[in-house]
Amino acid sequence: MLGEKRSGRFVIPGDKIGVIEEFIPGYGTYVVDGAIYASSVGFLSIDPKSRIASIKPASQRIYAPKVGNIVVGCVWGVQTAMAFIRIIKIERSFLSGFFTGVLHVSDIDIRFTKDILDALKLGDIVRAKVISEANRTYHLSTKGQNLGVILALCSKCGGTLRLKSKREKKLQCEVCGNVETRKIASDYGSGNL
Ligand SMILES: [Zn+2]
Repeated sequence: MLGEKRSGRFVIPGDKIGVIEEFIPGYGTYVVDGAIYASSVGFLSIDPKSRIASIKPASQRIYAPKVGNIVVGCVWGVQTAMAFIRIIKIERSFLSGFFTGVLHVSDIDIRFTKDILDALKLGDIVRAKVISEANRTYHLSTKGQNLGVILALCSKCGGTLRLKSKREKKLQCEVCGNVETRKIASDYGSGNL
């Protein structure tokens, strides 16, 4: 019953699934200190008989981003002038991580972004808008209240960053207390993707 209830949940890398006393780690998972975490994006599946917990890819269908779409993705590369976003969701549809979007530093905020790493970092989950698909490259923008980083982890220890001051856009690690900044969406930390 527990397995039935807990399976089907959408997970992203790093989400805790359970402990090894409850489940057997399967495809798309990894174990740290007896706890099972998702290593891929998808839906949690728990086999009621074998108790194997695995991650099923989010979608078999290929949805291509279109200009104007709101997408959610994970930052997997940061350079001086741009960041690369692995798109995991287009509008309401989850993907298995097929498309990469490019977020140029000038498209991050209406305010000038001096250092891209003050606005986002590797591993952050961001909500962005597709502004161009020229040359088959999906150009993204996080300008706007509801766009930007929606979940970030501490760059020192990997703990979850919680909103410390909304006005200053300061985030604080709940584990080590490290304070960082991001270009956050207005609903940062709400759990909304
Ligand atoms: Zn920390």
